[in-house]
Amino acid sequence: MANFFDSSLEFLKGVGPQRAALLQKELQLFTFGDLIQHYPFRHEDRTKFYKVDEVNELMPYVQIKGKITDFEIVGGGFKKRLVGTFEDQTGELELVWFQGINWVMEKIKPNTEYVVFGKPNRYGNKISIAHPEIEPLTPGNEKEGFLQPVYNVSEKLKARHIDSKFLSKLVKVVLKGAQPHIRETLPPELLQKQKLIDKRSALTSIHFPPGHEQLAAARSRLKFEELFYIQLRLIKMKLVRQEKFKGIVFNDTAILTLFYKEHLPFALTEAQKRVIREIYVDMKSGKQMNRLLQGDVGSGKTIVGFICMLLVVGSGAQATLMAPTEILAQQHYANLKKFADLMGVSIALLTGSVKKSKRKPIHEGLEDGSLKILVGTHALLEEGVKFNKLGLAIIDEQHRFGVAQRSKLWQKNATVYPHVLVMTATPIPRTLAMTLYGDLEISVIDELPKGRKPIKTTHRYDSHRLQVNGFLKTQLDTGRQVYVVYPLIEESEKLDLKHLMDGYESISRAFPEMAISILHGQMKPEAKDFEMARFVKGETKIMVATTVIEVGVDVPNASVMVIESAERFGLSQLHQLRGRVGRGAEQSYCILMTGNKLSADSKVRIETMVKTNNGFEISETDLQLRGPGDLMGTQQSGALDLLIADLGKDGDILKQAREAAQHILEQDPQLDKPENKAIRIQIDSMKKSVVNWSRIS
Ligand code: ADP
Ligand code: MG
Repeated sequence: MANFFDSSLEFLKGVGPQRAALLQKELQLFTFGDLIQHYPFRHEDRTKFYKVDEVNELMPYVQIKGKITDFEIVGGGFKKRLVGTFEDQTGELELVWFQGINWVMEKIKPNTEYVVFGKPNRYGNKISIAHPEIEPLTPGNEKEGFLQPVYNVSEKLKARHIDSKFLSKLVKVVLKGAQPHIRETLPPELLQKQKLIDKRSALTSIHFPPGHEQLAAARSRLKFEELFYIQLRLIKMKLVRQEKFKGIVFNDTAILTLFYKEHLPFALTEAQKRVIREIYVDMKSGKQMNRLLQGDVGSGKTIVGFICMLLVVGSGAQATLMAPTEILAQQHYANLKKFADLMGVSIALLTGSVKKSKRKPIHEGLEDGSLKILVGTHALLEEGVKFNKLGLAIIDEQHRFGVAQRSKLWQKNATVYPHVLVMTATPIPRTLAMTLYGDLEISVIDELPKGRKPIKTTHRYDSHRLQVNGFLKTQLDTGRQVYVVYPLIEESEKLDLKHLMDGYESISRAFPEMAISILHGQMKPEAKDFEMARFVKGETKIMVATTVIEVGVDVPNASVMVIESAERFGLSQLHQLRGRVGRGAEQSYCILMTGNKLSADSKVRIETMVKTNNGFEISETDLQLRGPGDLMGTQQSGALDLLIADLGKDGDILKQAREAAQHILEQDPQLDKPENKAIRIQIDSMKKSVVNWSRIS
């Protein structure tokens, strides 16, 4: 028998081929199942009738019952409107129509009982409701209050009279027919333990809840289910890998001892030590490591990476680090080389711009095993790159590599997969990490090295530029260096460049005696490197740049970061930029320049930056402001297309869902116990629907 939920909406009474095509195009609703899963984004509260004398303009919506005693047409031309005087036992208010006046006059009869619903406003001493919903009072709507679902519809649909009301009628019909077909998708024991309502009630109540309590219960249940199945898949992936993929055992720590004793340039922080221990346990376990390393800018991820590489190299294997951009790869290479040289470990850099003649010795060294560490970009994934024995792959992601690319690196070894350590350049909130990287173990460096002076961040309006320049002068006079960063506005590269050049000129005028560098995306790589090198060496004192300096620049003597038009930047980007200073011993500063007019969101962003230096806190706020889909670099990740759960708000449910999934897979890794039958069936049907989807699109 064909599955009820797979039936095309075309065959639903009242839809037909044309409307079905519109629903497909505008809302991606193809089937009965899609429609049922088109959950309302809010409900209008029609559970309660207010008395007219209780109504005030602060209420979002009210429902009242009574009659219209009088109609009057007021004004003319544009201002022409129909005003009805509406009363109940407690008082009067006005109902107002600007359009459809004739229709209303025909339909609505004076001195008949109606139910009226709408948004109250105040004009002078009168309360009025414009374009209310109005229905005759019937025994049905008089007694039974309800929460009315409000659905997302497009303007195009509305123009064809497919509005929220219309959708709610369709949903009602489909839900009725669906009752015998709705399958419970979570095991009874889990429902009980998590205090969740059953699927059938949940699907009904999410659309047509009898009351607020039932609506809340339906939401919790459906959110839990959604997050549970995502976590189940991720944890299953992890378990399969742990079971199948052997990892090379690295437990010879002689070389580490030597490094610690002779060359470690500073005492490791407790957080660094803890993370190294976590990684070490993985690497000697005999299973392949897949771990995410999170840590704020400047928390010292590089040395942790190097120590892990050293462990591998000390046992005769090789290690690699892949970075998302050329500049970042160069920076990593420079940092790691300092340590590698101390230990006499061979290291090379491979990026797209490395010439053929230079590649040959690298390829050879890799294959015969004499080259121990290779740092690079995507170029590492090319076919010619063959390792003798790759023991560890570190991936610096910034969310830019996908799972597919990660696994390409694993396959660089024919027999045993290398251990994989993923590092992210910006901290991401826990809920996001659990969803994007839920198949990995997670380590967090949650502490900055001692003695770091927190960067002082201030907000200044453009009108205070003179004072800001005065401050820059005092810093420059003590020998410090300064960054001035301009935003990239994607619509127009030309305009961006103009802003940058204007800025450059005004800074040149303000500091005529200073050598100034300029850096932007349209410069040739050699020119960029040249300018960057001048600034690093201290030959230039001010660096005027677009966001190209965001990653990979480490100039300890630079103590001030001025961010122009700061209101145009996202939070994580601001934080990332700020991380370019505060790398030396001196007090560092970040100055956020903005215009006088700021949107509410921009205000929150600027205030957050001024208030805290903690990257995790910042990414958490970013998540609240923008939602997971818009967070830096996560755009393409399908993992975040959620129907009902919200990673910004549902952290607790997520945690419970993950624990539950973990627990079930521990007890029943193959999910073949009878009590988990519901889960197995659901997974199979989800697999099937993925296939269906690809066929359609
Ligand atoms: P990130 O986590 O942003 O990659 P880095 O690894 O670049 O941070 O470290 C930032 C700076 O802090 C580097 O100059 C590094 O040498 C230094 N550093 C790292 N760990 C410590 C530590 N435990 N004590 C003092 N300085 C440290
Ligand atoms: Mg780094």
